[in-house]
Amino acid sequence: MPRKPIVGVLALQGCVDRHKPHIEAAGGTFRAVKTAADFDAADAFILPGGESTTMLKLIEVFGLWDALARNFAAKPVWGICAGSILMAQTVYVDGSKTQQQKSFGLMPFTVVRNGYGRQLDSHTAMIDGYEVSFIRAPVFESAAHDVNVKAMHEGRAAWISKGLYMASAFHPELTMVYPSPMHREFLALCAQ
Ligand code: GLN
Repeated sequence: MPRKPIVGVLALQGCVDRHKPHIEAAGGTFRAVKTAADFDAADAFILPGGESTTMLKLIEVFGLWDALARNFAAKPVWGICAGSILMAQTVYVDGSKTQQQKSFGLMPFTVVRNGYGRQLDSHTAMIDGYEVSFIRAPVFESAAHDVNVKAMHEGRAAWISKGLYMASAFHPELTMVYPSPMHREFLALCAQ
């Protein structure tokens, strides 16, 4: 039998452990990853939700940028909320679009941080028959034509993919029905 894919969840900050039961139920092995050696040993990555500025700071402080970029170039990556912000080509800090934020630029799409509003505007929604959480979520504003829109929310793309990469503006991992359709989809991508 082929080995189960090791899904490394970047464990610098944010919602990491909640992915474990989803990954296992979808046929993968969960691993919390935070060093270059951990990254090299993983088959795929989830960049979790949390706070993108904090993650960027920690990536900088621990000197992890190059090791991450090298691994992202060759393996499936799914960015969730803050993680999707790290993946986007263009990141605006807010709706005024005056200030941009550094990112890995893995997928050709633009995000506006906190585009769905403040913490009080956080909400749940049904995507693909599954309850997901939008928590100070980014708005995916525009994506290149070759980006596949897998789900919309409030008239905007909220779950997208291209090649080995997937991004969702929402968190599916907080719902305790395993696995989420998004984890199932990502593990299918890992098996390709
Ligand atoms: N608002 C956060 C950011 O801009 C993302 C929130 C989340 O990941 N739930 O990084």
